[in-house]
Amino acid sequence: MSIRQEVLKYVETKDLPQGKKFRKVSSYFGENTFSIPTMKKHVSKKTFEAFQNWQNAGKQISLEQANEIADSMKQWAMGKGATYYTHWFQPMTGLTAEKHDSFISFEGPGRVMEKFSGSKLIKGEPDASSFPSGGIRTTFEARGYTAWDPSSPAFIIESKLGKTLCIPTIFVSYHGHALDKKLPLLKSDEALSQAAVRFLKFFGNKSVKKVYSTCGPEQEYFLIDKNYYKMRQDLLLTGRTLVGASSPKDQQLEDQYFGSIKERVVDFMYELGEEAYKLGIPVMTRHNEVAPHQYEFAPIFEESNIASDHNQLLMELMKKVALRHNMVCLLHEKPFAGINGSGKHLNWSMSDDKCNNLLNPGSTPESNLQFLAILVSVLRAVYKYADLLRASVAHAGNEHRLGANEAPPAIISVFLGEELTQVLDIIEKGKKSEISRKDIMDLGISRLPIVNRDMTDRNRTSPFAFTGNKFEFRALGSSQNIATPITVVNTIVADSLDFVRTKIEQAAKTKDFNTAVLSVVADLIRDTKKIRFEGNNYSEDWKKEAAQRGLPNEPSTAESLKALIKEENLALFERYKVFAKDELRARYRIWLELYIKVLEIEAKTLNEMVNSSIVPNAFDYQGLLANNVAKIVSLKENAGLKFEDAALEDLKAHLADVTEKIYYARKNSQAMMKFLEDVHSIDEETKARKFFVELKPLMEHIRRHADMLEAVISDEHWDLPKYREMLFIK
Ligand code: ADP
Ligand code: MG
Repeated sequence: MSIRQEVLKYVETKDLPQGKKFRKVSSYFGENTFSIPTMKKHVSKKTFEAFQNWQNAGKQISLEQANEIADSMKQWAMGKGATYYTHWFQPMTGLTAEKHDSFISFEGPGRVMEKFSGSKLIKGEPDASSFPSGGIRTTFEARGYTAWDPSSPAFIIESKLGKTLCIPTIFVSYHGHALDKKLPLLKSDEALSQAAVRFLKFFGNKSVKKVYSTCGPEQEYFLIDKNYYKMRQDLLLTGRTLVGASSPKDQQLEDQYFGSIKERVVDFMYELGEEAYKLGIPVMTRHNEVAPHQYEFAPIFEESNIASDHNQLLMELMKKVALRHNMVCLLHEKPFAGINGSGKHLNWSMSDDKCNNLLNPGSTPESNLQFLAILVSVLRAVYKYADLLRASVAHAGNEHRLGANEAPPAIISVFLGEELTQVLDIIEKGKKSEISRKDIMDLGISRLPIVNRDMTDRNRTSPFAFTGNKFEFRALGSSQNIATPITVVNTIVADSLDFVRTKIEQAAKTKDFNTAVLSVVADLIRDTKKIRFEGNNYSEDWKKEAAQRGLPNEPSTAESLKALIKEENLALFERYKVFAKDELRARYRIWLELYIKVLEIEAKTLNEMVNSSIVPNAFDYQGLLANNVAKIVSLKENAGLKFEDAALEDLKAHLADVTEKIYYARKNSQAMMKFLEDVHSIDEETKARKFFVELKPLMEHIRRHADMLEAVISDEHWDLPKYREMLFIK
């Protein structure tokens, strides 16, 4: 019996403790967060007001007030059993980082007291040297600081034996350069807010003070039994299967999508929901996805910064809770070849300080006009900066989806739906003749249908779709931190709002306001037309058409990332104070390096699997075949065993086949290792390019031979868990 078959016996639902007491979600939602209402209860009225002033109007609080907040936060956390605290931050590698400190401090020899001061709340100094800085630190200072982000509530993470207070922070260098993903997001929200406020004021909304982006990320993932996971080096080290023959049934029947959820998984979802609610994460929807063992969680949308923290936390919780159920949560974009990968849909919109959604089509002609001006601003942003959007979702995992074997192409386009398209067509045509006042009424406003939220004909294949009152950016990878794509969307939309406003200002010098708006809207509809596509994005025809339209279609991560260091794009981020040029260049280097590292790890893991498992398994089987052939030949010769010649030829052919595949698997693995050696010291851009055009095909080649071996070798000689087992046994 193979190890794999041995393990199969232990794949089963874990017995969970029964009879957990039911609690109404509203009775404990956010109980482990130091939320605004909780803070209000714990600090003096004056300090609370100062805090709110700080958040809403940017007026700094004093150190005493910070001390008071820190002290009350500590009291609250200790009251809940926390003994440690950590500044929780998001370095550029995509994970979250923590450095735990105890609350205790010495009060004299042998005596300690629990203490937590405002200065410790506000600033931390983790050893930053092992976090990537892309060269920023060597240019400036080796130290890195974490600084409290008061806009995201602190929270308590529980483990079996203790609790830790986690304080969301940004991570910066001594000179204030961002070393994380959160600070740029906060800055981009500020940039968007200022541009949108200017825009709304221009449209006559005098009281608006602040605009913020909102987002709701739909998170896809796979769950597989932990026993399989432990037996697969590739899943363990790279998060995806590097080899594995497809099973006779993949997802052709699509019987999984929205199907009833298996009990074992439902249990996981219940527990995850509870853990998420305690942390104030509003998970809403849960369902099966298209691929077997694939699922999705969607939250209620929140302010982007919080939604982004919550998505990071949710991903961590998913991994943790899955383990309690003897399962492993796979967040990789493409864990199984030939089966749908996992993405993340970023639903994005903007709201003003009175909670008006700016992408909500209005119900009056005036508000319709404002909506249309904002809509074309987004169109212009996506059209002009499609390369940046592509770069914001470029990483090794997502390379398996965008423009690769998976359906979604790497082309960015916008879907608006039939109704809106009609509206835009009317406006566009209206520009043909001079517009008189009556024309505005006829061509424009009065003929604008009131745009209804239309949820019926949504195009599931569009990478950037308008879905009634928000856009859905669907090209994100399931494992990625959403902070960077949000940062990009916020900044390019800020730029476009300013652009459109300025255009209208100019046009309004010679026309009345409404005519001016309509003429600019019409111009932009025309200028950005190439980015709009209502058809099937997954079709081959679209690739051809997009090429004719001149839209970028870049399947390679390394090439896509180059958009970050294009002079025009560097200038954009600098203008909006989101990234200094060297910050963005640093990010480019870090992400390029990360891509290279991921592929190196994959290649080395594959080589190890070939040599430590696949080939030895194949040798065993090859030996068995060779013995058989020898015995049969000897029986024929010595004992007069009679059979057709073809039967022996068939046995020999089978043996030859296995022998050849072993040879190719080994030979190509050796070539792969030699390749890695050869490229060892070449520059990173060239290396990344070579990885894409040479290493990846080589890995695929090895995989093909390994998978062919898996298909012919007897079950009891094969040790790696098979697709049919990982994906179909519940
Ligand atoms: P579907 O799977 O059909 O795309 P879901 O209902 O699963 O739709 O997800 C829609 C997501 O969009 C939810 O997370 C929801 O909170 C989010 N959303 C709704 N309105 C907004 C908004 N104004 N801004 C950002 N996100 C939003
Ligand atoms: Mg969706």
